[in-house]
Order: sequence, then structure tokens, then C-alpha cells
Amino acid sequence: MEATAATNALSAPAREFLGRAGRHLIGGEWVESAGGAVFETIDPATGEAIAEVAHGGPEDVDRAVRAAREAFEGPWGGVSPSKRTGMIWALAEQIKANLPELAELEALDNGKPVTYAKGDMAAAVNHLRYFAGWPTKIEGETLPVSFPDAHVYTRKEPVGVCGQIIPWNYPLLMAVWKLAPVLATGCTTVLKPAEQTPLTALRLGELIAEAGIPDGTVNIVTGDGSTGAAIVDHPGVDKIAFTGSTAVGREIGAKCGQQLKRLTLELGGKSPNIILPDADLERAIKGSYAALYENSGQVCSAGSRLFVHSSLHDRVVEGLAEIASTAKVGPGLDEETELGPLVSAEQHERVLGYIDSGTADGAELVAGGKVPEGSNGGYFVEPTLFTGVSDDMAVAREEIFGPVLVAMCFDELEEVAARANDTDYGLAAGVWTHDISSAHRLAAMIRAGNVYINNWGMGDPSAPFGGFKASGIGREKGHANLDAYLETKTVTTRL
Ligand code: NAP
Ligand code: MG
Repeated sequence: MEATAATNALSAPAREFLGRAGRHLIGGEWVESAGGAVFETIDPATGEAIAEVAHGGPEDVDRAVRAAREAFEGPWGGVSPSKRTGMIWALAEQIKANLPELAELEALDNGKPVTYAKGDMAAAVNHLRYFAGWPTKIEGETLPVSFPDAHVYTRKEPVGVCGQIIPWNYPLLMAVWKLAPVLATGCTTVLKPAEQTPLTALRLGELIAEAGIPDGTVNIVTGDGSTGAAIVDHPGVDKIAFTGSTAVGREIGAKCGQQLKRLTLELGGKSPNIILPDADLERAIKGSYAALYENSGQVCSAGSRLFVHSSLHDRVVEGLAEIASTAKVGPGLDEETELGPLVSAEQHERVLGYIDSGTADGAELVAGGKVPEGSNGGYFVEPTLFTGVSDDMAVAREEIFGPVLVAMCFDELEEVAARANDTDYGLAAGVWTHDISSAHRLAAMIRAGNVYINNWGMGDPSAPFGGFKASGIGREKGHANLDAYLETKTVTTRL
């Protein structure tokens, strides 16, 4: 692959990685696709190809699942809990030691500002450190049964070979969210990164070997949706974990139901963010801006429906429009950039389509709405804000997954709770207020897996994350995440 201006400007370690990247990790070996198929990963800031990557088909998936099964029944299965702790911690250290390189690769492949990408890597380190503590604390129970002369206990056993399919918005962090419970519980996996952003997962594959994790424990197969489908369909996979769109989540859910595979889903959202009349205005405006525009709006838990009390509406809209008009839009690798491009031409087209639909439906554009000048083939969109939006417009109902915020007015608490809940989704919600009664009444009324009060998206590895309704099944993070990777076995002994 020919170098581009962006790849030429990378640090030496990142450039060297690009030179060797692009094969699957199967059973500890870096291998081409069985059929030799490849695809290109694109720099979203320019539209130029940056690397050629193996495109996995059913044969590659089958090899990876076999390698995962062999490791599960072989070397990895024999590693003690204490040693697993050491290996997970060592992987965290590897990420920390290679943090600038990983952040550069992420900014190049995904488009996100490199300064934010560094934050993703730091979050990945913390995530692994938290899960490193778990292997030695996974306990069964002795049960107080009511029949005599019996000893009954439970064992928590790893579910087996997992298939994990991740999206492109936080590529390395989502890979780590998936791998951490696999490693903590003693499962093995076949992980598929998104076709738009395979690079950091492949670099992570190298670091996994450096951390001393046995070959075949983590296998990485790159490809597109058909590669993901081959993982879901493979009879040797015991559990699927998926993060992505609700449409694909439904399809995967149906297949897993038929095959009775274990399943966790982290899907989309259209999350309400509510500013009450007594809110700290400056904090609410800054927080609500970041709630949507961070990562260019490409966040499953983005605060994408803003409900502002009528008494504050105009001041909040003015404040948001001002930040939007001065935001620095540019390539992720530029240290000054606050808003990177969207990840792909497809997302670019989709988001611009939503902006057209908002205008056509009669919403008022108060900021952005265009492709910025000088985009030069990059997938940039200005931070965009609509007012005059009604609850039934597509821009207020559908997940846009781009830098497009809709602001609406409300007057009463019960009214805003009902409108906030009038959606198929239920991933996140936010409330800005000093009134603790209103804050906690709303927190109880809203049907969503995560409610943020006077913040948006403050996450911690110990705090479960996931959705109600069409936003998913199960939880990631916290000990709730471990249960999804464990089976309970009851052992009953007549003494
Ligand atoms: P997507 O199709 O759901 O992709 C997510 C992952 O699933 C990718 O690795 C994808 O592979 C894979 N995949 C696609 N079709 C599959 C299938 N039939 N079986 C198994 N795996 C499959 O999402 P997208 O097309 O990239 O984005 C579309 C919309 O999804 C976005 O606009 C946004 O609304 C939503 N989304 C949500 C999240 C989230 O965090 N919840 C993340 C990303 C996107 P390839 O990418 O390689 O094809
Ligand atoms: Mg890319």
C-alpha cells in the first residue's frame, strides 16, 4: 500500500506497524485469508486507503473457532486464576507502554481526535486492571438444602468459545470491553473488529502475545458483516457478544435464539437529556454539548434528544450554537482538532440525509448543517443543531450517529418523562438540576440502563452499562458482565 501524507507523518512505531498489519490472528499465527481475499481500510479524514487487510470468510472463521476450542480445552484452560490475573494486568501494562502509538493508529483509522483517542486507551488500561482482579474471586456457593445427608454446591464455569463482534466508534476500547470478561472467566474468543477500523485490534493482538496469554485464547478475524455472520452461525461458538446497530442486533438475536447460544447485545439509542429550570446553566450547556458532539456524535449512548425547560430554552440553544460555531473540525491526527470526520462515506451520506430530512420536516437549523469548506474528500460534517423539532420527526426518533442535536421544550416533569420514554430505545438519559427530588424522581421514571445526573457518560469499569428495550440485552462492565461468560453448575451429593 502506498504511503499517504498522513501515514508518512506517523511516528516510527505506528508506521512500522502499518507495514506489517493486515492478517488474521489465528492460534497465535498471523495468517492470510484462506481464499486470499483482502479489503482496504480508509483514512476518513481524506478518503485515502491506508492498509490492506485480510477479509475473513467461513473457512477462516472455522479455523479460528477450532483454535479457540483447542486453547479452551488445552493450555488456557489449565492457567490458574492467579496467573490469569497476572496476564490481564500485563496486557493493561502493554497498552499503557504503547499508548501513543495505539492512539495514533486509532486517530488515523477512525478519525477521532488523537487527544480523545489517548483517553480511550487510558480507559482500556483501567478496564483491564479492574477485570484483572476478578479471576480469583469467581465463587460458587454451598446451598442450605432441606433434605438430610446431602452436600450441594454450585460451580461457576466458563461458557466456552465466544464470538465477539464490535463496532468502529471506539475500536480498541470496545475490543477491550469484550476481551476483559473473556480473560477473567477463562473463556476463549474469536473477535471481529469492524471493517472500517481493524488496525488497533490487530495491534492489540500483538500485545496479547507480549502479555504471555497463550496462543488461541484470543483469535482476531477481520472482515465485514458476512464475516460476523459466519461467527454467529458457527456451531462451535457457545456465546455471542455484539455491539452495533439495533437492526443487526435483532438479526443476531434471532439466530442465537434458534441455536440457543448465549447472547449479550449492546445496541443503539436515542437518549434523552433533560435540563430542568434550576440547572447550573454553564455546566448543563457544556455537558450537553459534549453529550452529543463528542466522537462526532458516533456514540451509542449519545445525548441526542435534548429537552430544555421552556424558561431556559433560548439561552441553552444560544450557548450550544456558540460552542458549535467555534469548534475546531479537522483530521484526528491534528492535536488541535475537537471534532473529527465521520468514520466512512456511508455514515457521511447517512448523516447528511438526516440533516436534509430535518430541514424538509420544518425543523429550524440554528448551527452547522453543512460539509465544511476544505473537506478535501474527508467525511466531515459541521456540528449541527436543530430547534423547532417535534417528537414525531425522524431527526427526533431515529439514531443519527453523527454530530446532529435536536433541542425541544418541555414544561412539566411528568410530561418530559413520558416524552423521554416514547422511544423503542432505552440506553441512557441525563438530568441537569440541583433539585435532588426531581433528579431521583426522573431517574426512577425513565426506562433506560444508565441515568446521568449533572454529568453525561461518566463511566467506570465497575459500573454496569447496557440498555433497556431495543438498546440491548445484558450488561457490560462490572461483575454483571462476568455472569454473561459463566455457566452455573449445581453438584448434588448424597452423603
Ligand atoms: P453494524 O452493521 O451494526 O456493525 C457492527 C458490527 O457488526 C461490525 O463489526 C459489522 O461488521 C458487524 N456486522 C454487520 N452485519 C452483520 C451481520 N449480519 N452479522 C454479524 N455481524 C455483522 O453497524 P454499522 O453498519 O457500522 O453502522 C450503522 C448504524 O449502527 C450506525 O449509524 C449507528 O446508528 C449504529 N451503530 C451503533 C453502535 C453502538 O455502539 N451501539 C456502533 C456502531 C454503529 P462490518 O462493519 O465489518 O461490516
Ligand atoms: Mg478506517
